[in-house]
Amino acid sequence: MAFEGLSEKLNATFKRLRGKGRLTENDVKEAMREVRLALLEADVSFKVVKEFVSHVTERATGADVLDSLTPAQQVIKIVNEEMTALMGSTNSKISMANSGPTVVMMVGLQGAGKTTNGAKLAGLMRRQFGKRPLLAACDVYRPAAIEQLKVVGGQLDIPVFELGQGDPVNIAEEAIRHARDHGNDMVLLDTAGRLHVDAELMDELKRMKAAVHPNEILLVVDAMTGQDAVNAASAFDEALGIDGVVLTKLDGDARGGAALSIRATTGKPIKFVGTGEKLDMIELFHPDRMASRILGMGDMLSFIEKAEQNYDEKQAKKLEEKLRKNRFTLQDYYDQLLQLRGMGDLSQLAGMMPGAMGKQLQGATIDEKALSRTEAIILSMTPLERENPQILGASRKKRIAAGCGLQVVDVNRLLKQFDMMQQLTRQLSHGRMGGGMGGKMR
Ligand code: GDP
Repeated sequence: MAFEGLSEKLNATFKRLRGKGRLTENDVKEAMREVRLALLEADVSFKVVKEFVSHVTERATGADVLDSLTPAQQVIKIVNEEMTALMGSTNSKISMANSGPTVVMMVGLQGAGKTTNGAKLAGLMRRQFGKRPLLAACDVYRPAAIEQLKVVGGQLDIPVFELGQGDPVNIAEEAIRHARDHGNDMVLLDTAGRLHVDAELMDELKRMKAAVHPNEILLVVDAMTGQDAVNAASAFDEALGIDGVVLTKLDGDARGGAALSIRATTGKPIKFVGTGEKLDMIELFHPDRMASRILGMGDMLSFIEKAEQNYDEKQAKKLEEKLRKNRFTLQDYYDQLLQLRGMGDLSQLAGMMPGAMGKQLQGATIDEKALSRTEAIILSMTPLERENPQILGASRKKRIAAGCGLQVVDVNRLLKQFDMMQQLTRQLSHGRMGGGMGGKMR
C-alpha cells in the first residue's frame, strides 16, 4: 500500500519526540528536518514540502498549544491538521446538474485508469447516490477501448453507449441525448488518452467541453507515476481546466507523493481514489482520513480528539483545587477510572496519556480485570467512606469485601494504591500543577 515508507519514517520521528517531557526549539527543528526528508523521499514536490514544514514549525514553536496534550502529541496534531489542509480539508463531491443528466468527462493519459475508473465511478454513483448512470465510449482511437468499456460496464450492469469509430464530440452529444431519452441521470464520457499531453488531444477535449458543457471534468492520474501525475494534472488544468482528480492505483507501492502534492500544486482537489483492480475498488477521497492513514496512528489521533473533547476546564480546576488541598478522594479516583474507561482500550491509551496518570499507568501493565475489581470495591463503599478512607477499620473492610465478592486483602491493596497515588499527587501539587493529572483529566 502507498505511504508505507512515509508512515514508518514519520512514526520513528514522533517516537523520538514522545520520550521528551518538554520540547525545545531544537527538538522541533530536528523533527522537522526528518519530516522534510521523509516527505521528499515519498516524492512530494519540493515546494510543497518547504511550505508544509514551515507551517508546522511555526505552529509547533508558537503559542498554538493545548494543555491537555503532551508536546509530542501537539506536534502530531499539528502535522495531522496541516497534512489534511494540504489535501483539501473537506471531501469534494461531484457537482450535479440541476436539470437533465449530470455530465462527467473522464480525461487522462493512456493507462492512467480512465476506462476502468469511469466504470467504477458509475458503480459508486449508483451504489451511494442512487444514480442511474450511462457510460459513453468516446475513445475512438484505441481499438480495444470501446470493447473494454463494454466489458467493464457489463460486469457492473451499467449501460454503455457507443457509435463505433465516429466523431468523439458527436458521440458525446448523442450519448447525452440517449441518456435523456432513457432515464439516465448521469453520463460518464470515456475520452481518448495519449501517452503524453499533446495539442491534438487537448483540442479534441476542448471541443467536447464546449459542445456538451460538462458539470464536471475529472482527470484520472496514476499514483504510481508520482511527480508525473502532478505534472499531468497541471498540464490538463492549464489547457482544459479540470474540476478534480481521480487518483488511481493507490493500492500499489507508490510512495504517495502525488496525493500530497496535487491539491497544493494545482489547487484542484482529489475527489476519488482507486484502490485496486476490482470494479468496486474506488472510494470518495477524505483528506482527514488519508492524513491519519499516512500518519498510521488512527488510535492516537482519536485519543487526541477525545482528550480535547473531554478536557473540561472547570472540572479540571476543581480537581486541581482538591489536589492542592489534599482532598482527592476515592470518589475522585473512581470518577477518573470511569473517565478512562470511556476513552477506550486502556493499555493502548496509557502510553498516550499526558501527565502523572499516564506515567503511572505506563509503568504498570494495565489489567482490565484489576480495574473492574477496583471499581467494584469503591462501589461497595458508602459515600462517607469514599470521601474519608481513613475511617475504614477492620469491620468496614470486611463488609466492603463481602459486598463486592472479594477479600479484605483486595480492599487493602486498593487502599494502598490509593495512598501511593495521593502521595504522588501531593508531590505534584507542590510542583507544576498544570502538568499533573488535575490539568489533564476531568
Ligand atoms: P486507461 O487507458 O486510462 O483507460 O486505463 P485503464 O482503465 O485501461 O487501466 C489501465 C490498467 O490499470 C488496467 O489494467 C486497470 O485494471 C488498472 N487499474 C485501474 N485502476 C486501478 C487501481 O486503482 N488499482 C490497480 N492496482 N490497478 C488499476
